[in-house]
Amino acid sequence: MKSCDVLIIGGGGAGLTAAIYTSRANLKTMVMEREISGGQIATTDMVANYPGFPDGVLGPDWSQKCEQQAKNFGTEFIQGEAVKIERKGKMLVCQTAQDPIEAKTIILASGASFRKLGIPGEKEMTGRGVSYCATCDGAFFKNKDVVVVGGGDSACQEGEFLTRFVNKLDIVHRRDKLRASYALQQTVEKNKKIGFIWDTVVTEIKGEGKVQSVVTKNTKTDEEKEVETDGVFIYIGHDPCSEYVKGFVDMDDHGYVLTDAKLHTSQEGVFACGEIRQGAVRQLVSCCGEGCAAALEAIGYLNE
Ligand code: NAP
Repeated sequence: MKSCDVLIIGGGGAGLTAAIYTSRANLKTMVMEREISGGQIATTDMVANYPGFPDGVLGPDWSQKCEQQAKNFGTEFIQGEAVKIERKGKMLVCQTAQDPIEAKTIILASGASFRKLGIPGEKEMTGRGVSYCATCDGAFFKNKDVVVVGGGDSACQEGEFLTRFVNKLDIVHRRDKLRASYALQQTVEKNKKIGFIWDTVVTEIKGEGKVQSVVTKNTKTDEEKEVETDGVFIYIGHDPCSEYVKGFVDMDDHGYVLTDAKLHTSQEGVFACGEIRQGAVRQLVSCCGEGCAAALEAIGYLNE
């Protein structure tokens, strides 16, 4: 069984920062990530509000540099997915789809994943016109018409990015007012390629082998329409990736992990940081800050 001082589950901004701190403190550190380092930020084109980068920084570049920085201090990266965590004597054991890993302390930094609409056609058409990642899939929609579902920062930021490629884009939002920040609202409202379908939800995604249309329903009048489109980008928020610690650490009704002010969970030696945590501010800079704070707590815990 692999063994370490600090096992960090999740290689997003919070986990990568925690790894930089614990490995620099000479603790044997492992980061387990099921996808790619950087988490959500690795699939974000431009990060415009991370301090120190007046011209913005590309999400994938930032992620790779953080991974390299953690590796330089000795962090080992493991591709895998946590299935369950249990306590065995003084050690914590993380069960994975492959070999288990034992650790003296664990930092939960597995973040949150894109919420699904849960409507007919969504699952079947994922990768065939339905996407949750404009950076990954935008280029496939050159000169096409697409809809973006959602009214928050992600819908607006990713929608704006998509206009580099698409012919026309409609933001379909269930209310008549965007939730997004003032700056992003201004950006999308000024963009001539972007239209808005207000007070509307998407109830079905249709197509033969690829997306051809969506069925929409007006939330005020119940009127249903079929709107032709080539693609559906869904940005309706996130759900925490915390299934593997259900019943092990305390969490709220939505699955967000509860911590105290020092990021300790209900289990001794287990800390949580970033978007998996109830109350986290969903910004890269704050997730990094929490990663640092959780790492310092883990270091203090191991020193005791
Ligand atoms: P969000 O802020 O939770 O917004 C989700 C949007 O989807 C809301 O407009 C919501 O409508 C809508 N929605 C939720 N469930 C829906 C459903 N079942 N059907 C249709 N619409 C639904 O999520 P987000 O935009 O992904 O942002 C998450 C966090 O990341 C936020 O804190 C945000 O500030 C941050 N973020 C920041 C930046 C940036 O700073 N540049 C960029 C991206 C994200 P209602 O408005 O009616 O609730």
